[in-house]
Amino acid sequence: MRVPFVAANWKMNKTVHEALAYVEEFRERVSDFNEVEIVIAPPFTALHAVASSLIDTRIEVSGQNLHWEPKGAFTGEISANMLKEAGAKYVIIGHSERRHLFDESNESIKSKIRAASDVELIPILCVGETLAEREAKQTFEIINKQLTEGLTGLHTLKADKLIVAYEPVWAIGTGRNATPEQAQAVHAHIRHHLAQTLGEVCAENCRIIYGGSVKPNNVEKLCVQVDVDGALVGGSSLDVNSFAEIVARNHSATV
Ligand code: PEP
Repeated sequence: MRVPFVAANWKMNKTVHEALAYVEEFRERVSDFNEVEIVIAPPFTALHAVASSLIDTRIEVSGQNLHWEPKGAFTGEISANMLKEAGAKYVIIGHSERRHLFDESNESIKSKIRAASDVELIPILCVGETLAEREAKQTFEIINKQLTEGLTGLHTLKADKLIVAYEPVWAIGTGRNATPEQAQAVHAHIRHHLAQTLGEVCAENCRIIYGGSVKPNNVEKLCVQVDVDGALVGGSSLDVNSFAEIVARNHSATV
């Protein structure tokens, strides 16, 4: 039985002050929802403050990106160990904004996944096709490539801790989300791929979450799909009421 996983990706939003005001209210709002794993990915500057203020709760913290080297002359970058020390348990890797706005390749994503796993930081690997790729019926091909190239060489034991986020690029921040049937089809495909590459046990245990315009009014139908194990939420996670509602609906869909 996989524990549902709901994560907030705040992207480049919220100062430390705003982040702390949010989590102070949020932690009370979700304190009863023990059946769901809840994660917040604040910007780097707020990560330590948010993690410290959530230390006595079940809510975990994630980085939004990292560099694959442990240290060195990489101005503006941050390492896996630095994220861990700041209080992160997870790190988002290969978000479509990183792939498309910052030209991240599957090769660099692979290095980031390894760097995270080396220090027991759990990767949330994002995969997803563009609209043109979906219309050209290349969705599965693209997902296979992103998974194969991104996960090459990941040790099976470490793979057990992997989270995969299916985020169709055409659904991110657009208000247009995948239908529950479209999401289920891709999630089942991802699980099948993981079974073939990393083994049945890893595939069964892996939480595969959906991201792309998730809102309180559409999350339930997505999360009741057999292979959809939760959500990665961007825009709707910035508002405390809306993210708390998304967690609540995920919880009620699972109990
Ligand atoms: C995201 O950025 O991971 C995301 C899913 O964004 P949104 O919910 O705004 O579509």
